[in-house]
Amino acid sequence: MGTDVNSIKNTARKFALQNAVNFDGSAQLKAVMGKVIATFRKQGVHPKEIIPLVKEVVADVNTLSVDDQRAELLEIAPELLEKKKQKRDYSLPDLPGAKDGKVVTRFPPEPNGYLHIGHAKAAIVDFEYAKKYDGTFILRFDDTNPLKDKIEFYEAQKKDLAWLNISWDKEYHTSDNLLKHYDLAAQLIAQKDAYVCTCSADQIKLGRKQRMSCSCLDKSVEEHQELWEKMHEDSFAAVLRLNADMKSDNTAMRNPTLFRIIDAEHPLQGNQFHVWPTYDFAGAVEDSLSGVTHPFRTKEYELRDDVYFYLLDKLGLRKPHLMEFARLSIEGMPVSKRKISPLVESGKVTGFDDVRLPTLRGLKRRGIVPAALKQFVFQQGISKVESTVPFSLVESENRKVIDPVAKRVFFVPDPVKVIVTDATKKTVTIPFHPKDSSLGKRQIQIKNEFYIPRSDVDRLHHNDVFRLKDLYNLSVDEINDEGIIASYAGDELIADSLKVQWVSDNFIPLTVFVPDVLMKNDTFNEASLTKINGYGEPVIASFDDEIVQFERFGFVRIEQGDDRILVFFTHR
Ligand code: ATP
Ligand code: MG
Repeated sequence: MGTDVNSIKNTARKFALQNAVNFDGSAQLKAVMGKVIATFRKQGVHPKEIIPLVKEVVADVNTLSVDDQRAELLEIAPELLEKKKQKRDYSLPDLPGAKDGKVVTRFPPEPNGYLHIGHAKAAIVDFEYAKKYDGTFILRFDDTNPLKDKIEFYEAQKKDLAWLNISWDKEYHTSDNLLKHYDLAAQLIAQKDAYVCTCSADQIKLGRKQRMSCSCLDKSVEEHQELWEKMHEDSFAAVLRLNADMKSDNTAMRNPTLFRIIDAEHPLQGNQFHVWPTYDFAGAVEDSLSGVTHPFRTKEYELRDDVYFYLLDKLGLRKPHLMEFARLSIEGMPVSKRKISPLVESGKVTGFDDVRLPTLRGLKRRGIVPAALKQFVFQQGISKVESTVPFSLVESENRKVIDPVAKRVFFVPDPVKVIVTDATKKTVTIPFHPKDSSLGKRQIQIKNEFYIPRSDVDRLHHNDVFRLKDLYNLSVDEINDEGIIASYAGDELIADSLKVQWVSDNFIPLTVFVPDVLMKNDTFNEASLTKINGYGEPVIASFDDEIVQFERFGFVRIEQGDDRILVFFTHR
């Protein structure tokens, strides 16, 4: 045997320490074994000789504390510790064929509406992958439909991306490259790979259905070149089609349209163009020309992948590593610009920032924070499995982020008066968060008049002792139609006693808007926004654009409206 026992033990010890440090102090035998065996296999050592040694080492390493493990690893194999430090805090799987510094991704929104949580998924995945590989992230406006694209959406979408803490290395408009697209179209025509089709939309559809090409294909290259020129004149209606495969089982391959005529003023290009590329053409060509290595799209485009590669092949352009993930759907929420717009236009919701909508503006307004969306997206990952997830998944990520940093204040829904007969008038100081004094505190003036929630009053009986949270205990002397008459019953916390949030007589009246699912069985849920009235403590009037926790009620976002304080329920 050419390798001595000590060398095997030393190697096992390094890997065991590394594995232990990565897994809370406990090294996994199987993982360590695999690495040691792999290391010594090359030297011809039989696993039989290795197994008992590794077992012994792992058992020994596991008796150490994590701190000791880390200290020893630092001493004997610091390179293994470094790796752990560089490990990212999330788990986007590796990209196929990705090299550090060479990955280029892009997010390609069409400026035809406000971004929603589905776009956030795409943009976060694109952005984070570029970051993961120290690559380049491109924001590309796919503005090739002048009928729908509007100037205000370019800026609005950028603003919403910035809110998500997404930044980009390059930004451009697909519409700036139309002349280049025309050149490539001419190349295809010259190669007989594209042709001008003058059939009606119905004829084209029928042809595809019957897998039959039309007589337009019979014309010569020169004729198609002339027709293509004519398409750019105002009066001539036709489309340019890819000469792919009308017999293909893949419907997308049956000579898809590459260019069509759209007569409308473009927000950036004005009226200079009226032949516009389709998504099949522009998407593939732009990904390739802009150097994108790993373009992501949603799974519904899967059938069109053949077109993507066929086209790039014919153009002699570089083929990116096309990736797909599932389109995000959320129960009861319209995650699509096409479905959101009619709700806004019909006035069913108050605007694109309505708190019931999954638009980034709506989510922001409701109190969902970017860090939570990012975690939610990581959790969804890049699987292709289509599913409709409940919004509660977003809520629980959000709760984790805001719970430690949201100030806690009192709001009393459906308030009932409590008179404390022997109360002293004073000012009390209560911290905004029990665990974080840096969040500050507020002062509340109290007299003998308080308000507590009716739901708590309903549980109280004569002589019960309950606690006004962060204040003192009360004993119930009488419950009548006006409320409760009570007396002071000590300061000390009593285990198991009811603890109730309260306001004093200097309350401010508030209405909390509570969003619910927008759609039920595909119809608008008339009860999608309800109101809860109550009293809040006065400090709430000083909050603006702030997410706080109403204790025992839930998280809310507070905003100063034109003539009143707006409170939106975020989640429990
Ligand atoms: P919509 O139906 O909302 O208009 P879209 O796909 O037409 O969606 P684009 O602006 O063209 O909207 O999309 C930009 C990017 O965002 C694309 O890469 C698209 O795949 C992605 N995207 C859009 N909606 C979703 C979604 N629900 N889930 C995941 N990704 C999405
Ligand atoms: Mg679109």
